[in-house]
Amino acid sequence: MGTYAVTGSASGMGAAVVARLVAEGHTVIGVDREDGDVVADLSTAAGRRTAAREVLDRAGGVLDGAVLAAGLGPAPGRDRARLIAEVNYLGVVELLDAWRPALAAAERAKVVVFSSNSTTTMPMVPRRAVRALLDRDVPKALATLRIFGSMAPSFAYGASKIAVSQWVRREAVTRDWAGAGIRLNALAPGAIRTPLLEQQLATPAEARRIKAFPVPIGGFGDPGQLAAWVVFMLSDAADFLCGSVVFVDGGSDAWFRAEDWPRAVPARRMRRYVARMKEFRALNR
Ligand code: NAD
Repeated sequence: MGTYAVTGSASGMGAAVVARLVAEGHTVIGVDREDGDVVADLSTAAGRRTAAREVLDRAGGVLDGAVLAAGLGPAPGRDRARLIAEVNYLGVVELLDAWRPALAAAERAKVVVFSSNSTTTMPMVPRRAVRALLDRDVPKALATLRIFGSMAPSFAYGASKIAVSQWVRREAVTRDWAGAGIRLNALAPGAIRTPLLEQQLATPAEARRIKAFPVPIGGFGDPGQLAAWVVFMLSDAADFLCGSVVFVDGGSDAWFRAEDWPRAVPARRMRRYVARMKEFRALNR
């Protein structure tokens, strides 16, 4: 039986993951802002440091896995875009920076980060905001989103999930992660019936937008089913899964982007492709 850290453990998909892991006999260290084994506000640097440290103390320095589910959805509010950037992006990468040695100590550890299908189905998210988040510069990311006015939280949400997914793919394949025996992957849900979605549905304009969004199989996803995907991605079955973003979204991504991926590397990207090939060979000589 393993020891797992789960952020966002008090509600929705995080809580559903905790229930499954506990039912399987694992030890879970839940992190949440009010109701968790570790109580910490991931929207502040101090809260992230507390969460990182207390989890490591409780785990005794060895973690078999981690699930990063804490997150905020797009909702109106002056400070909302900042909170989204801090919780959804820094609340993942800073914790994983701190937990990586403990995950490496477990030898076959698995990490699942909650992304979203908004990464590929939400248009016009500025690349500059994504780049600023990858540089961990939240004020710069927020500055690029100011032009969106009251829609800034929606674009902050899209940017935070694109950035965290790119971070996962970039890091997963490196010596620090793959080379240390840690499997790092992301799960990208569509609209799932959790308190986060219910909050969005409570605003009539948002509810209309969500209900009008194309979902080929119709309706909303179930948190228990998404938790089953997470637990699968934490299992030995995921030993060969590395840097993947798994979409479980009722078909919305496929509806919009069937031809976008998979797709052959175009001629204009061949230089970069060959460079990556050489880089890999040099690293593995
Ligand atoms: P939820 O609101 O039910 O749960 C999120 C949890 O995160 C809550 O327990 C909340 O207290 C915690 N949290 C929020 N801010 C925090 C903070 N500052 N410090 C510590 N904890 C904090 O949401 P959910 O729908 O279960 O979402 C889980 C993840 O899935 C999120 O990352 C979300 O962005 C993502 N997601 C959700 C949907 C959906 O439709 N529900 C779709 C795609 C992605």
